[in-house]
Amino acid sequence: MVKVYTIASGKGGTGKTTVTANLGAMLARYGKKTCILDADVGMANLGLILGLDELPVTLHEVLAGKARVRDATYEGPFGVKVVPSGLSLQGFQQSNPDRLKDVMTDLVSEFDILILDAPAGISRDGVIPLTLADGVILVVNPEISSIVDSLKTKILTETVGGHIEGAIINRVATSGNEFNTAQMEKLLGTRVIGVIPEDPNVRRASAGRTPVVVKYPASSASHAFKHIAADVAGIE
Ligand code: ADP
Ligand code: MG
Repeated sequence: MVKVYTIASGKGGTGKTTVTANLGAMLARYGKKTCILDADVGMANLGLILGLDELPVTLHEVLAGKARVRDATYEGPFGVKVVPSGLSLQGFQQSNPDRLKDVMTDLVSEFDILILDAPAGISRDGVIPLTLADGVILVVNPEISSIVDSLKTKILTETVGGHIEGAIINRVATSGNEFNTAQMEKLLGTRVIGVIPEDPNVRRASAGRTPVVVKYPASSASHAFKHIAADVAGIE
């Protein structure tokens, strides 16, 4: 049975796209047939950090009803399949987020795991991915504004009938954090699936258009992603 996860947060910049790319790659590395989709159709970044841009067919064309998802699916690191969105404003304007459900239906028979990289905020294109997932994973930074925004996303998910799978705490400093994991679990009212440290290798890897788990596998962030992927894959 396929499992669909949506990677969400209240505000932008918490690390959703980074988590989608690295978790997807590691799940593929662990033998799960995995597809990651850039459902952040307005601010498409997933293709960019994977070196998949300037593509003829993207999720934009699929959501515009002009192409099939098969034609917008590309090979990523460790064999993860990637459905990027395009970078043009026109492409975004033509895409209809209501079509995402049909896209998922086309993919379920081919994969073990589908991961949707959701946009920030609570607009329509942000809400639809919350409704399509078996589990929504919140990406939260250990600071009060990020926690409050994620709580809003949690409530919104539950309001639209979605299910919160847990939270990933990202960009955790070695010292001076406002909250520890137990406090985060209490505040968010959900399980912490894993904790990713602040690690300059993450940005360095993105600049090289490669996920950190591929480019710097021995880095502290990569260790964290491996644990999280093992947890999600059910092999830990
Ligand atoms: P979102 O998709 O939520 O907007 P991104 O994944 O694009 O966020 O991340 C925002 C920025 O933070 C990027 O420059 C990314 O490289 C950086 N980043 C994400 N996670 C980490 C981390 N653990 N350590 C250092 N930088 C990070
Ligand atoms: Mg993003």
